[in-house]
This record gives sequence, C-alpha cells and structure tokens, in this order.
Amino acid sequence: MMLTAKEINTYNKLADNGFVQKITCPFDESDTIITKIDSKDDPFFHCLWCNSSFTPSKNIEILIKKHIYNN
Ligand SMILES: [Zn+2]
Repeated sequence: MMLTAKEINTYNKLADNGFVQKITCPFDESDTIITKIDSKDDPFFHCLWCNSSFTPSKNIEILIKKHIYNN
C-alpha cells in the first residue's frame, strides 16, 4: 500500500472543508464512507451504508497525493 492513513486523513480534512471532493463508495457515491486500518496498518475504506470495504484504488491514491502535496 502506497498511501498512509495520515495522508488519507489529511485529504479527508480538505474534503470536510470543501476544498476537494469526498471519497465516495464505488457502489453508490451518496454513501458515507469511513477510513479504517487493517492489521498491517494499511488504510482501507468502509461504507457504512452498504457495508462494503475497499482498498484505495490507484486513481484515489494519485488524487490524494496530488492534492495534499501540490497545495
Ligand atoms: Zn456503499
């Protein structure tokens, strides 16, 4: 995993303040997702609505790094 929980949290703070788009559930973009940590300390997302878990895609990784390091 190339993303850290810290990077995701930084991105989520930007999203909470409306600076970037929130990361959404791949099944329904109106679902609320939360960030969790697995047993290897790798972050993943969990959707509270459809109860699915998913790891950040390469696109999400690129998006997050772009916003937190270029701003
Ligand atoms: Zn969902």
